[in-house]
This record gives sequence, C-alpha cells and structure tokens, in this order.
Amino acid sequence: MTDSLHPATHAAHGGEAPRAPFYDVAPPLHLSTTFTRNAEGGYPGGRVYSRDQSPAYDGPERLLAELEGGEQALLFSSGMAAASAVLHALTPGQRVLAPRALYWALRNWLREFCADWGLTLDWYANDDLDELARLIQAAPTHLLWIETPANPSWEVTDIAAAAALARVAGARTVVDSTVATPVLTQPLALGADIVLHSATKTLNGHSDVVAGALVCARQDDPFWQRVRRARALGGAVLGPFEAWLLQRGMRTLFVRARAANANAQQVAEWLAAHPAVASVSYPGLASHPGHAVAARQMRGGFGAMLSFRLRDGEARAKAVAGQLKVFRQATSLGAVESLVEHRASVEGADSPVPRDLLRLSIGIEAVEDLLADLRQALGQ
Ligand code: PLP
Repeated sequence: MTDSLHPATHAAHGGEAPRAPFYDVAPPLHLSTTFTRNAEGGYPGGRVYSRDQSPAYDGPERLLAELEGGEQALLFSSGMAAASAVLHALTPGQRVLAPRALYWALRNWLREFCADWGLTLDWYANDDLDELARLIQAAPTHLLWIETPANPSWEVTDIAAAAALARVAGARTVVDSTVATPVLTQPLALGADIVLHSATKTLNGHSDVVAGALVCARQDDPFWQRVRRARALGGAVLGPFEAWLLQRGMRTLFVRARAANANAQQVAEWLAAHPAVASVSYPGLASHPGHAVAARQMRGGFGAMLSFRLRDGEARAKAVAGQLKVFRQATSLGAVESLVEHRASVEGADSPVPRDLLRLSIGIEAVEDLLADLRQALGQ
C-alpha cells in the first residue's frame, strides 16, 4: 500500500513510518557522534562514527532519494560542498563542460578549482544543444554540468537531450535542480547520473538551514563511490540538527512549492504587462525561449524564481528594490517569504547580469499582497 502512495504523501510523513521503541509521529533526532561496540568488538547498531554515518541522515536521505527516483542520496554541509564533492571525484586531466549561465559562486569557484586541479573547463550556452554536441565531439569529456532553470536568467536546458549526448561520449551528467525541485522535475529519469540540490533553498524552505544534497541514479557507479569518499574523508558533513530541520522542511515541500509556483506564474504575467518593465524572464511565460522544453520537463509549474529588467535602468531597479515592503531585500531563494535582489550588486563588477535586473524569489504569501507591493514600488 505505502509503495503506491504519491510522493507528496511520503514527503508529508517525512519518508518514515513510525517505529520502535516509541513509534514517534515526528522523526526522532539522533545526536550521538559515536556508537558502542559489543563484547566481541562488533558494532551491533551497524554504525561506527557519525562523520559519515549519522542516523540523523537516514530519514532525509531516504526521502530525497525516493522523491528524485534515485538509488541513494547524500547530505552535505551546503550546496557548494555537494558540488565540491562531485568535482573532487574527477582526476587531473579530465574535462568538464559547464553552462555559461550558472549560479555565480559556483562559476567562479569552478574556474579556480579546475585551473588548480589540472581539469579542462569549457563553457556552453545553456540552451544550445548544437554547441554542446560540437564541444562533446571536440575532445573527451568526463563531466557535463547542467543547471536548469539557471540562476539568475532562468535559461532552460533540455536534460534528456543533453544527457544523451554526454552518455554517448562516456561522460557523467550532473543536474543542479535546486530551482526545479523534485516536485517539478526528476532529472535522473531524464538520463542524468546525479542530481544536486542546494537544500538551503526550497527543500528546506524556511531560510534557517544551510545544506546540500546529491542523489545518484546508480549506487554501484564507481564515480558515485568516489563522491561518497569525498564526503566521508573530505568531511563536509551536515550537523544532525540541520538534517532534522531539513527533513521537517521537506514534509511541507509539495504544498510550499505548488503555492510558490502558482504565485510566481501570476507575478510573472503581471510584470510582463507592466509599462515600467522592459522584459521578464520566467520559464512559465510563453515568451521565454525555453518555455517549450520547460513545459516538457517541468510538471505542474515552472518554479518560484523570476527576473525582470526595468526600462529606466540600474538606478530605478535599485530604487524599486528599496521600495518593496512585503518582499524582503535579501539574497537566497526558495523559502516561504518572497525576496528581491539587485543581482549585479551581489555578483560584483565582472558579473554578466544586466545592471537593470531584479531577481525575485517568490514565496507563499497571498499573491494579491505581492502584486500590491510591486504596484506601489513600481509607482505606475
Ligand atoms: N546551486 C544554486 C542554483 C544556488 O542558487 C546556490 C546558492 O544560492 C547553490 C547551488 C549553492 O548552495 P549553498 O548556498 O547551499 O552552498
């Protein structure tokens, strides 16, 4: 019976059935860092030391693996730590293909890391499969990195088509699915090998945990075993309380994601019709170049992230951000409260992000309050 339940039901139950000795309804919290041997020297509980074996990970990892349709999930101390574990599983001389539109801190770190570790790094346009195919044919490739929709322009990559190109060339495909969430997209079913989440974002959803996660399609993949080693010995592990908070956050994942996605669609449509707005980037708009692909690979919504550009330039964009009252002016995304950010200011002088662009992370507030706030800030 439980196997046939909808993933939203599993999520609401935290992915766990009540169990002995107390049959708790809310999952218990395990804090112990070490576990007792028996008289024979064995470990009757099957655990030795919590760096890589905390029972606090069991529930959230099982739930996440189930939601992504993967064989195994691993929690990390942040999304960046999860990304770093994947890159550390490569060996010098190997080649990485990454999209030009990419979470900026990862883009900067990738550049440094690949140079320092003797990895070749080449860039492709997120939605250009022809360019990707040419690059893959040009030289042996070991890792294809995809982020879709990509922060902060929300360009869309066709996961199935890109992963098929990588597979033929013997490369692993990793998809940063932070914005899509498993509510909308299952990259593993589309051919990816590993899914990455900044669990700091929608998975937790309450702006109170920094965490990351990876989920693999096949546990016995030697590349995945190297990723596991990178966590166990690199030690970028999550604290048990944060793992517990994350599991608690995921119990409301579906209802939060659906509400935020519906709000985002309305906000995007409203902004697109506003005279002060030059353009809106949101995969749920028919005008978005990736709309058709997004409609295929995102089921039930297009995410809670959008960006828009002001006709009157950077100063006006910053003024609008400052005028918003329901939206909080802060970085990050995917939580219950809506956020606004002048993205170019965060990314610094070499950012490719247009200076008249504001990024919105849409929360679960009443949409009429979000629209009224935008109306008063835009002033028309
Ligand atoms: N991936 C995306 C798409 C992000 O937006 C972020 C952070 O903003 C990360 C990865 C990194 O995650 P974390 O901040 O949890 O390290």
